[in-house]
Amino acid sequence: MAQEDVFKKLVAHCKEYGFVFQSSEIYDGLGAVYDYGQLGVELKNNIKKYWYDAMVKLNDNVVGLDSAIFMHPTTWKASGHVDAFNDPLIDNKDSKKRYRADVLIEDLIQKFEVKIEKEVAKAKKRFGESFDEAQFKETNPRVLANQEKITTIHTRFAKALNDNDLEDLKQIIVDYEVACPISGTKNWTDVRQFNLMFSTEMGSTADSSSKLYLRPETAQGIFVNFLNVQKTGRMKIPFGIAQIGKAFRNEIVARQFIFRMREFEQMEMQFFVRPGEEMKWFEYWKEFRMKWHKALGMGDESYRYHDHEKLAHYANAATDIEYRMPFGFKEVEGIHSRTDFDLSSHQEHSGKKLQYFDPELNKNYVPYVVETSIGVDRMFLSIMAGAYTEDVVEDAKGKKETRVMLKLPPALAPVKMAVLPLIKKGGLPEKAREIVNTLKFDYNLQYDEKDSIGKRYRRQDAIGTPFCITVDHETLEDNMVTIRYRDTMEQERVAIADLEKILEEKVSMKNLFRTIV
Ligand code: ATP
Repeated sequence: MAQEDVFKKLVAHCKEYGFVFQSSEIYDGLGAVYDYGQLGVELKNNIKKYWYDAMVKLNDNVVGLDSAIFMHPTTWKASGHVDAFNDPLIDNKDSKKRYRADVLIEDLIQKFEVKIEKEVAKAKKRFGESFDEAQFKETNPRVLANQEKITTIHTRFAKALNDNDLEDLKQIIVDYEVACPISGTKNWTDVRQFNLMFSTEMGSTADSSSKLYLRPETAQGIFVNFLNVQKTGRMKIPFGIAQIGKAFRNEIVARQFIFRMREFEQMEMQFFVRPGEEMKWFEYWKEFRMKWHKALGMGDESYRYHDHEKLAHYANAATDIEYRMPFGFKEVEGIHSRTDFDLSSHQEHSGKKLQYFDPELNKNYVPYVVETSIGVDRMFLSIMAGAYTEDVVEDAKGKKETRVMLKLPPALAPVKMAVLPLIKKGGLPEKAREIVNTLKFDYNLQYDEKDSIGKRYRRQDAIGTPFCITVDHETLEDNMVTIRYRDTMEQERVAIADLEKILEEKVSMKNLFRTIV
């Protein structure tokens, strides 16, 4: 199936099963704003718990915070967002559609990468076992030509971004004949800068009100609380502050479902370190965060690092963790070494000292910061994209049918186990309810008695429930049930008394955490 079709199916699946809805749908929706439905909220909460516990429980020098969305307006002056939180935008004059110039160029580069991947795949098929991928890439003329194009565009693109050279950004689009995907024409406006912050007013009268911004990132709430937490928590450097919360960006191009939203949620951690030690911690967090992703078992080859071409105004090193989405490798998380830019700038704008006295060095300094920043929604999308699977199975009568399944990591699955009485009578529903009632305090379970057992299995597969158990007549005599595993469809008899242990072993986050530390 083409990747585009996979993505379309995934979006439809998210809606059909109550994971994600368009916001204000009855009014025809609001662009790039989404609501999470009954199953989506469970998955989202599990992702947040997985992140928060990994950061705060596994690292004894990281603590939590929940700061407000509204902040003093000077915060955004100090952080650089008022002056520099811009995206380069460009319009196609025929379709009247607006694009981010940098994204158009990144997509262009990706086209050449895809060409290389296709050449490699073709050659692999032709040469079979004896295929040497590295050698092929170094010698095949078509691969080399595409690689050269990538390098040339990359270099020019990085320079244009760093120099804020909007004319050359446009020229790259013109030179490589990038066409608007809607109109198909190359009739572009000039590139302009566009500030992404939403603003609003606080206060009831026109003269006493002041302009506020909806925060475009959660990080600044952490910076302004740095001393509060350090002093009250008696924290010693190095230490980190982690928080999860909403952020808002007036994104120019809001396509690709929940990948790019105007209201979204971030999970950010700022780690405060001694100046000069930031690169050591940058490497530490790079590795820790990658392990966190890979522990979910979605396939190591689906992740990669991508070092930044252009460093943000505050950074001295930055990398992204990218995930292979149906529309290519895309950023899910950023890891940035932010120097002392933010604390120093807040110190300057507020006139309050934001320094730490280091007893070992016997001196005061403004700490350096390494941050890890991941979007909950992008993480959600990557998990759903990796989990969405279609396979062909035979029903009880031997008829072939397509099974849609979400291979969600059990620790994140919205429903951990479905309890299904084989039929709706003979004391089976009561027995099944009894099982639900003993396990529901610790696990999210579903009870389902409607339709044939096969149909009920399919429903659970489609929402990613890792286990179904069936209560039958024998259960009433031997207190055993049939457990059926989502991924393999294998079934076995187990004692009701063992269910809690089985669930604990298979769905607990503990096992994931053990692979990270
Ligand atoms: P992009 O280049 O895709 O716009 P960014 O580099 O601006 O992202 P950061 O400012 O580093 O993103 O934000 C950290 C994380 O927050 C991103 O890795 C992403 O997961 C998430 N994020 C940022 N913008 C959005 C958005 N508009 N919608 C959903 N998630 C977002």
